[in-house]
Amino acid sequence: MNNSPKKIVFASHNRGKYKEMSEIFKPHNIELIFLGDHSSTDIEETGLSFHENALIKARKASELTSLPALGDDSGLCVSALHNQPGIYSARYNGVESSFQSKMIKLLEELKDEKNRKAFFVCVLAYVENATDPIPKFFEGFWHGFIADEMKGTHGFGYDPIFFDPNQNMCVGEMDSSLKLQLSHRAKATNLFIQQWQLNT
Ligand code: IMP
Repeated sequence: MNNSPKKIVFASHNRGKYKEMSEIFKPHNIELIFLGDHSSTDIEETGLSFHENALIKARKASELTSLPALGDDSGLCVSALHNQPGIYSARYNGVESSFQSKMIKLLEELKDEKNRKAFFVCVLAYVENATDPIPKFFEGFWHGFIADEMKGTHGFGYDPIFFDPNQNMCVGEMDSSLKLQLSHRAKATNLFIQQWQLNT
């Protein structure tokens, strides 16, 4: 019996996200390969939904590596902004702008806003190969609020301004093991793993 881990390429150049995902996959005999280590080709996100973008990334990563692939698209949806920046979270305030300035802009936009509701969403698309006709999708959500100011230095992206009322703190204040239990990405990934275990 072949017990070597199954290799799946993770279609991202974001090492922060890759690290979070690898931790979740480790105990499940799946070796997650970082696309950034194999290709510098930028994958253009031309979809109008998280699902479309996740699938575009998965197909491209599989084409580049000839491995099964997981594509991830995630973002922050703010209720008072009609769920923006959403799929444009990485491009908010311009692709080149730092997360510090993206967060400052978002806080400025919500300055007089009482409705601070927001959620993170993560959609994973899995393909066996680049032309897989039956991609599988897994979704995870994390509901909370946009804080009045940035707090904490942990995590990445919008973590310092996303407040989780159940933990009474911003994600930027959480250590990585707590974030791993609660995050939208962890939820989507756990659904993927459950499905995986049923099929292996
Ligand atoms: P993607 O790489 O196109 O999926 O971009 C997702 C965007 O949403 C990036 O700008 C991320 O920083 C942001 N984002 C996604 N997940 C998280 C998270 O867990 N914490 C903070 N920001 C996140």
